[in-house]
Amino acid sequence: MLKISKDHGISTIVNHYQEGDNAHHAHISPIFQTSTFSFPDVKTGAAIFAGEQPGYIYSRAGNPNGDQLAKKYAYLEGLDLIRQNPEAEPDEIVAGRVMSSGMAAISSAVMGLVKTGEKIIVQRELYGNSYSFFHEVAPRIGIDVVWVDSMEIADWEESFARHPEAVLAYVETPANPTLSIVDLERVAEIAHAHNAWAMVDNTFATPYHQRPLTLGCDVVVHSTTKYLSGHGVIIGGAVVSRHVEDYMTSPDGVGLMARVLGPVVSPFDAWLANLGLKTFEIRMQRHAENAMIIARWLAQHPQVEQVHYPGLETHPHHEIAKKQMFNGFGGMISFELKGGFDAGVTVMNNVRLATLAVSLGNVDTLIEHPASMTHASVLPEDRLKVGITDGLVRLSVGIENVEDLIADLEQALAAIA
Ligand code: PLP
Repeated sequence: MLKISKDHGISTIVNHYQEGDNAHHAHISPIFQTSTFSFPDVKTGAAIFAGEQPGYIYSRAGNPNGDQLAKKYAYLEGLDLIRQNPEAEPDEIVAGRVMSSGMAAISSAVMGLVKTGEKIIVQRELYGNSYSFFHEVAPRIGIDVVWVDSMEIADWEESFARHPEAVLAYVETPANPTLSIVDLERVAEIAHAHNAWAMVDNTFATPYHQRPLTLGCDVVVHSTTKYLSGHGVIIGGAVVSRHVEDYMTSPDGVGLMARVLGPVVSPFDAWLANLGLKTFEIRMQRHAENAMIIARWLAQHPQVEQVHYPGLETHPHHEIAKKQMFNGFGGMISFELKGGFDAGVTVMNNVRLATLAVSLGNVDTLIEHPASMTHASVLPEDRLKVGITDGLVRLSVGIENVEDLIADLEQALAAIA
């Protein structure tokens, strides 16, 4: 197995770090499709159980395919911190854990940190089921949720000033589906000034465009269903943090949630996610290039009222996006048409290359209607507070040839009477 040097780039890391199988010299890691692992004798089994000796026990507690993937995700999110610490092993600096879905990652990450009776401060503008977790589930287990209605940093400052006992700031940036941006460095500073942590959903940006841990944040969560796996064939999630011993591996942190709630990813899904990850960097490059071209094209189209894309100079937080994102601004766009809801429906019903489907980050282009689909679980008044109007259309720009995508959108827009 090649020893990865800290100077290696993303595509080298995801193709070589932790890859292969020393026991049989398989070039690509095999699938460990097994529920349990055998022990040579009772003494060894007891030592593995006690954590005194490395080894696998049972696939809910850990499996080589999941661990391989978690280490790659941790390396990508922690790349800058790992490079800044040449003496330490990567997994001493940043640790990861894979989960059965993005929602499993979010719920396990929060419950691995926050106890009953504690208060957390949460951005209102979130993916629909993340909102539902904080709106419906967190209060059931006695977590007190304070919502922040805007992405403005002054509102985060004010919320922490009013609730200095809060233990966590939870943010999603760029936010789904409005592509709003919050200043991660500032949120982390404000949270830390109150002895709280900052947790970030980095699903839209991915570590190709944004590394919240480098900006001072404490925990990153992902739906790996999306760009990290990239091909729309698995559901998966990940938690990555620089708090290795006091959170990721501690007996009452994320590991406890993984063990007792059982949000495990199957070995085969982990293997597929790893296969997808091998082309992550080149896919992201193309997603971002295509999205920038399409955002500019939509912005000048006479039927289009407004385009939300952090790469456009007209985006209200373009300067913050430029400060904290790199390599471009990702593959997600949302837009509103002059004809409102009816016009949006016409476009979504008339696309031929783009597919009308939820999810995002696939190699092919997907289009959907947040108000009736991904964000239907958000209270209508809360949708409006954060700008999810009934006319908003979300586009996950794929890696197809951009002129074909524009031709498809052109003919769908032409169908508006
Ligand atoms: N976070 C974001 C930003 C999402 O868009 C999604 C799903 O769309 C999730 C989390 C949840 O991920 P999953 O569907 O893998 O549970």
